[in-house]
Amino acid sequence: MGRSRAPKTFTEKAATAVTSLPPAEEEINPGAVEGTDLRVLEYPHPLLRAPNEEVAAFDDSLRTLSAEMFSIMYASRGVGLAAPQLGINKRLMVFNPEGKKKAGSEVLLCNPQIVEMSGAKEVEEEGCLSFPGMSADVERSGWIEVEFQNGRGKTVRKKYVGWEARIFQHEYDHLDGVLYVDRLDEAERARVQPDLDQLVEAHGPGGAL
Ligand SMILES: [Zn+2]
Repeated sequence: MGRSRAPKTFTEKAATAVTSLPPAEEEINPGAVEGTDLRVLEYPHPLLRAPNEEVAAFDDSLRTLSAEMFSIMYASRGVGLAAPQLGINKRLMVFNPEGKKKAGSEVLLCNPQIVEMSGAKEVEEEGCLSFPGMSADVERSGWIEVEFQNGRGKTVRKKYVGWEARIFQHEYDHLDGVLYVDRLDEAERARVQPDLDQLVEAHGPGGAL
């Protein structure tokens, strides 16, 4: 998911619209990142829509891959990244709500499952590393309880609230081939459609790195 924009109250949001605060630091596609050959796939790459397999081996290659995912996520100024965004169609995601190495906590989730989620929804702005330079308001559950396997294959149950719950839901969608632009209301979708058309034009319907 894109760069952390601290969740805003309605009032703060309205205020930023009428003042000249500097824009939030936006996510970027860093291209080549040292220590890995993997790149972030941009919309409309077909692997973003492909089915994703369960993680079966909790071995050194998983540790290497997750370290590369964190490197790419930080280089992209992101707060979350799902394996299919790198063309690896596995049910694996990483996130760090602080978006900075050594700040906050790094989370690696394999084969996550939703146990329960709040009926109450919140609308906040999201970006996505596969859609550079754009963001849109998305409705998500305010909290979510999940079960997943950690990097050693141990099953963990955890409840995420607010910003972390939002990041989880965004990345979880990637594991089902769902992208955040699929979840926009009609007005938001219409607003970002020119950006989507531009990405399709830049990469072709088959997508690109
Ligand atoms: Zn995303």
